[in-house]
Amino acid sequence: MPELPEVECVRRSLERLIVGRRVESVRVTRRDVIRGESSATALLQHDGIDRVLRHGKQLALVSGTGRCVCVHLGMSGQLCVLPAGDAYRGGPAPIERTNGRTSSNGRPLIPPHTHVIWRFEDGSAMRFTDPRRFGGLWTFAQLDALAGRRWSALGPDALTITPSDLYHRLSATRRPLKAALLDQALVAGLGNIYVDELLFGAGLHPLTPAGKVDRALAGSLVGRMRTLLTRAIERGGSSLRDYVDADNQRGSQQDRHRVYGRSGLQCSRRACSATICSDQIAGRTTAWCPSCQPEP
Ligand SMILES: [Zn+2]
Repeated sequence: MPELPEVECVRRSLERLIVGRRVESVRVTRRDVIRGESSATALLQHDGIDRVLRHGKQLALVSGTGRCVCVHLGMSGQLCVLPAGDAYRGGPAPIERTNGRTSSNGRPLIPPHTHVIWRFEDGSAMRFTDPRRFGGLWTFAQLDALAGRRWSALGPDALTITPSDLYHRLSATRRPLKAALLDQALVAGLGNIYVDELLFGAGLHPLTPAGKVDRALAGSLVGRMRTLLTRAIERGGSSLRDYVDADNQRGSQQDRHRVYGRSGLQCSRRACSATICSDQIAGRTTAWCPSCQPEP
């Protein structure tokens, strides 16, 4: 599942590829991925893409008139921008009958699980695909409505939360750190990968009670979080399974994971000979080093 670094990489690629373009038409092939008004106007038809914003793991395409489409990639969602000439192939063929086949003239049809296609005036296009459909699109007539009705349920973004805010939020919960940091209402953007990596870096066991984090530790956690996420963004995010940005580029952060996906392997810290272990914590497979992250 894309987490903050991957979603930020998608945002940056979209900023480069679609900001300034006008939407000529929108084609919806699966209406139930859209929450809110699902008209072409609500999906920015005849509007220009002005900005692409991100909060936590969610994106927003904002038009010049202030309309916005919030995109949550969920488990398997992707936004893919296709250059002019390569776009919108398949013409009017019903998507459910294409299944990745090519049409009679040999051009590829729209791939399966494509739910929405935006065609821009310059001939390029963008498609939203989501095979598992845990993601979706939310439309709002104004950015204020997105902020007030949807993003207000999220905590501060993990890249900008202050040490004092994190301290107050953690001290107000009795949950273990792993569960608290995964909670998007407490801090937005972290998921299973980056919480495990953050706790390893900080030498904290995932079951450490969140309420035990003092101000100094909250300050150091914020610093580590920013460094971890910033470096992951610089490396294009973690490409596990099928993650790519909107320009079809894979990331390389997965090669730097210290505990995530390393259960049963030796700890990567030179002075440590312990084996990375894993268990279900907060409902998620959690990996940690029993020596570098002693039990609380
Ligand atoms: Zn270790």
